[in-house]
Amino acid sequence: MSATEMNGKELSKKIRTELAGEVLQLKQNGVTPHLTVIIVGDDPASQSYVRGKEKASAEVGMSSDIIALPSSTSEQDLLGQIDRLNKHDSVHGILVQLPLPDHINEQHVIESISPEKDVDGFHPVNIGKMMTGNSTFLPCTPYGIITMLKAHDVRMEGKHVVVAGRSNIVGKPVGQLLLNENATVTYCHSKTENLTDYTKEADILILAMGRANVIRGEHVKNGAVIVDVGINRLEDGTLTGDADFASTAAKASKITPVPRGVGPMTITMLLKNTIKAARGLSAVGK
Ligand code: NDP
Repeated sequence: MSATEMNGKELSKKIRTELAGEVLQLKQNGVTPHLTVIIVGDDPASQSYVRGKEKASAEVGMSSDIIALPSSTSEQDLLGQIDRLNKHDSVHGILVQLPLPDHINEQHVIESISPEKDVDGFHPVNIGKMMTGNSTFLPCTPYGIITMLKAHDVRMEGKHVVVAGRSNIVGKPVGQLLLNENATVTYCHSKTENLTDYTKEADILILAMGRANVIRGEHVKNGAVIVDVGINRLEDGTLTGDADFASTAAKASKITPVPRGVGPMTITMLLKNTIKAARGLSAVGK
């Protein structure tokens, strides 16, 4: 079998065109969706992600701003900034770029963002709603994965999904969303014994470990659907996923490339969440 590529860049383009239409409509009703991104410190990767979010917001007609704070910023100062933004009516989405410097407690920061403006979907209130299958802001990468699977008509109900990775931002929530879609979910992590015994059994394999090319063709089932979330930079500068693309694509029925796979979908879902937040405000006439 040779896999069909699930191209996140192309799907994102299509979704972003639809989102631009929604933004236009909101603007006609006097609401311009606005995202504020806070970045603390000067990590180059974080700076590049933040610029990507700003560019994508502009592309769909949303407004955004970046609050860049020095790495010496205290937790109290950061919480003060978030409190101000929580109260600001024209700010619909607040995103604090992670990771934060060691002296700042990430969980305190996540919990300080108003759940109505938590467009990353990391606040415990929103995670709880997701767990119970209620409407909420879904975390962007898992939301992007589910959207992609649906767009490619991948049947999830009754299927065995294996998720390799259990982080709070990718592995755990994507498994939960697939459970909500009536899949049977197995989680694997760094303490899992014989990982490939599980990957070989997956109808849908989600790879979110950050381990370059570790899953090869012999580790996947014939016809499996593979979603490779991993982004790993090799010594020569190229980006690769957790799957060895050539050998796994030869056996899979569908697979996401790296890059141009899950990555663009993550930002697209952030835009979607921010528009949803803006709709919430317009609904109460603010
Ligand atoms: P984390 O480092 O937070 O989590 C990695 C997870 O993988 C952990 O649960 C860890 O287990 C598990 N793991 C690590 N090594 C192994 C192994 N050898 N066997 C089995 N499990 C293993 O990473 P993130 O979840 O934040 O990100 C995962 C990958 O996805 C990264 O490459 C990241 O760059 C990428 N990413 C891509 C995004 C996108 O938009 N495409 C968005 C976010 C992340 P344990 O819990 O036991 O430590």
